[in-house]
Formats: sequence, C-alpha cells, structure tokens
Amino acid sequence: MPPLERLQATFLLSAPSLKQAPRDTLPEIAFAGRSNAGKSSVLNCITGNRRTAKVSKTPGRTQLLNFFSIHLPGDTEQIAGRIVDLPGYGYAKAGKQAQAQWQQAVNDYLSRRDNLVGVVLVMDIRHPNQAFDQDLIGWAQASELPLRVLLNKADKLGRGAAQKVLQQLQSTYKGSPSFTAQTFSATKNTGRETLIAYVLDQFGASAA
Ligand code: GDP
Repeated sequence: MPPLERLQATFLLSAPSLKQAPRDTLPEIAFAGRSNAGKSSVLNCITGNRRTAKVSKTPGRTQLLNFFSIHLPGDTEQIAGRIVDLPGYGYAKAGKQAQAQWQQAVNDYLSRRDNLVGVVLVMDIRHPNQAFDQDLIGWAQASELPLRVLLNKADKLGRGAAQKVLQQLQSTYKGSPSFTAQTFSATKNTGRETLIAYVLDQFGASAA
C-alpha cells in the first residue's frame, strides 16, 4: 500500500468543557500547541480539508475543545478514532478569565479523558520547546502517554538546520520511551504521511 496522503475527517462537535465530550470508548489524539505554531494548518494538511482548520478558527470556537471523527481508511462508514483540537495556548485576544477557563478545560481533558491515547504537540521549529511545551511534555512523560512533537514550519530553515533542531530535541528527551519527534511543514506537506501513519497507529488502525 502507498502511504496515505490524507485522513478523512468530519467535524463532530465543539465542547466548552469535558462534560460535553462524546461518551463512548473511541480513541482520541489531542493536538496542542502555542497559538500561531501552525496547528490549524497541520490539521488542514493531514485532512486535506480547509474546513477542518476553519472550524477551529471560527470565532467562539477557538476556546473550545473541537472534536473531529476520523474515518477508517477505505471505509467511509467506520470511525477509527477522533482528533481533538485543543485551544491554542497563549491566544492573544483571550482575556484572563477566558484563559483560565481554557486552562481548566484543557487540564480536565488531558488529565481525566480515558479516551486519550496520544498527544501531538505542534511547535514552530524556529521557537522550539518553550515553557508551555516543556510542561506538556513533562506531564505526558509522567503519565506515560505517547507524545509526538511536530517541528512545524521546517520550510523556514534549511534541511541541515532543521535536522539539527530535531536532534537537539530528541537528545533532550532521550530515555523517554513515549516521546517522539519529527520535522513538518504544513505548507510543503513535509512529514505528512509520517504523521498520518502515527495517528492511525495510535488508533490501532493501519493505513492498509
Ligand atoms: P495556529 O494558531 O497554531 O492554528 O496557526 P495557523 O495554522 O493559523 O498558522 C499560523 C501562521 O503560520 C499562518 O500565517 C500560517 O500560514 C503559517 N504557517 C503554518 N504552518 C506553516 C508552515 O509549515 N510553514 C510556513 N512557512 N508557514 C506556516
């Protein structure tokens, strides 16, 4: 089978808190990242669907947990799992109260959601491993939850420079079995098939 170039995604719902999240046992992968790291662009890239990113950028939805159903490859009926787009950290326009509510919803989701099988953390490769990123990675390590870092906007650096950032990050977290990282470019589709395979793998579904 050739590598899969896109995931079929359908917007399911936006939840202001964990209470409104779907009640079933489907596996979920959460996408997190600092605002402007390119999280929406990454989602758009792997689903090949502009609406995916648009949903998450709709005013009023930027502070919500946005759930997308991911179809089993080659089977439009069956759902393999869900991608949960977490609110971007450090959203500039959010007031203090909104930020606190954001934090609560994200903390609740990450710490109490049984469906969660992995986290994809999007970083801007030019500003990797900031305080928020370190907190999330540390938490995932402590929880033994698989976490994949995307060093996005790799097209902004030369190949050698991008590989250097990747190696540096991998060496920082070596010895952590659930930590993985890759370079990515949402604008050039670099790393897209690798990420799609990772997501399906976390769902326990293969691309075949
Ligand atoms: P979000 O706030 O994390 O959802 O970020 P967006 O997806 O809105 O992206 C923020 C900005 O970065 C936009 O101007 C995007 O066009 C740009 N961007 C996102 N991904 C990439 C990438 O891989 N390469 C480049 N050069 N720009 C990107």
